Amino acid sequence: MSALETFDVVVVGGGPAGATVANDLARRGRSVMLLDRAGRIKPCGGAIPPRLIRDFNIPDSLLCAKITSARMISPKGVAVDMPIDNGFVGMVDRDAFDEFLRARAARSGAQRRTGTFSVLERDERGVAIVHYMGKDGGDVAVRARMVVGADGANSAVGRQAVRNAKKTKFVFAYHEIVEAPAQTKEAYCGTRCDVYYDGSMSPDFYSWVFPHGATMSIGTGSAHKGFSLRNAVGALRKRGDLASLDTIRHEGAPIPVKPLKRWDNGRDVVLVGDAAGVVAPASGEGIYYAMACARFASEAIEQALDTANGKALAQARKKFMKAHGRVFLVLGIMQYFWYSSDKRREKFVSICRDKDVQEMTWQSYMNKELTRSKPMAQVRIFFKDLGHLVGIGVH
Ligand SMILES: Cc1cc2nc3c(=O)[nH]c(=O)nc-3n(C[C@H](O)[C@H](O)[C@H](O)COP(=O)(O)OP(=O)(O)OC[C@H]3O[C@@H](n4cnc5c(N)ncnc54)[C@H](O)[C@@H]3O)c2cc1C
Repeated sequence: MSALETFDVVVVGGGPAGATVANDLARRGRSVMLLDRAGRIKPCGGAIPPRLIRDFNIPDSLLCAKITSARMISPKGVAVDMPIDNGFVGMVDRDAFDEFLRARAARSGAQRRTGTFSVLERDERGVAIVHYMGKDGGDVAVRARMVVGADGANSAVGRQAVRNAKKTKFVFAYHEIVEAPAQTKEAYCGTRCDVYYDGSMSPDFYSWVFPHGATMSIGTGSAHKGFSLRNAVGALRKRGDLASLDTIRHEGAPIPVKPLKRWDNGRDVVLVGDAAGVVAPASGEGIYYAMACARFASEAIEQALDTANGKALAQARKKFMKAHGRVFLVLGIMQYFWYSSDKRREKFVSICRDKDVQEMTWQSYMNKELTRSKPMAQVRIFFKDLGHLVGIGVH
């Protein structure tokens, strides 16, 4: 074997998923390299639930805003407020948040490298060799017992090493980071997330105004290739009297809409986060799921290294789907049904008035658990939903 530097684990991508795997495995004493290409802030609304803050020890200082209600706005402009009774949703700026996670992984012992992954090769014994373009543009190669593809949607690691990873479907999302108004307005409040369900601003997803302290994120998403996200955000800003505020940045990125059927190659490569497709349908929430998935992957990698059996990597997907698969299924059906016409969006916003719906929505978002304590509320919601589905009024 040549004298290449060798790591137990090479993690490609230093977003929430990659930084979490690197941190978890370095803490367990594994030799870890965390590779990230520098220089781009991940386009993201930055909303994170309390469960993430708790499970991953996120300091309060990283929260640039605390949200205590959401406003759902229908195509006809009907606004329904959904207050959060106990607690808040945290907002993070991704430049600071991701850097915090990477620095924490480094403090735990992971070696940080800046560069762009290029190709995965094999040495004469079949061990993975990860090539990347270093800061000076030169090729660098390291040997890895395990490789983690945490390089986001359209993962290069996935395309090269995991069967069918190329077949992912996406919603394209675009947002503008805008200076926050000095005062609260009809369409802006520093402690409220506004969510627009309106076919003219998104034919199949939703649009948003999310406060971030001194700034805010105004964005929209759609899977329709011909739909102009930029025009839609422009229209939303005009409608909310937010057009004259300074635009600091504008950017977009794909959001995967379905977990891949396989995340690993059964040997030494596993995908996590957006690379594995773990973003919740209907909401587009991906940060918590990226980190939760990374945690399951860390355990699976540990097992695979201990037993020298790459088949253990499949446990990552299995455990994740056991924990979150049902919620993904329900949200997928919700998106398919409620986001398909303005008539349905109008009804969807109107059922958000229901206190049971509000309580269950917040409970499942904040804690990532479906409430079991109120079976009658679930039955009521089921019949109300059914009523809306078949077009009869159920109150
Ligand atoms: C506009 C928008 C708004 C969103 N809003 C929210 C929200 O409010 N809340 C929420 O929970 N989720 C939101 N999401 C989804 C969320 O941003 C993602 O699901 C989450 O970032 C996934 O984390 P990740 O670590 O898997 O991937 P990423 O965050 O994409 O990180 C991938 C990392 O890999 C690096 N990388 C990529 N390619 C290479 C390479 N070849 N070599 C080296 N490094 C590489 C990148 O630099 C990056 O650091 C939003 C997404 C978009 C696009």
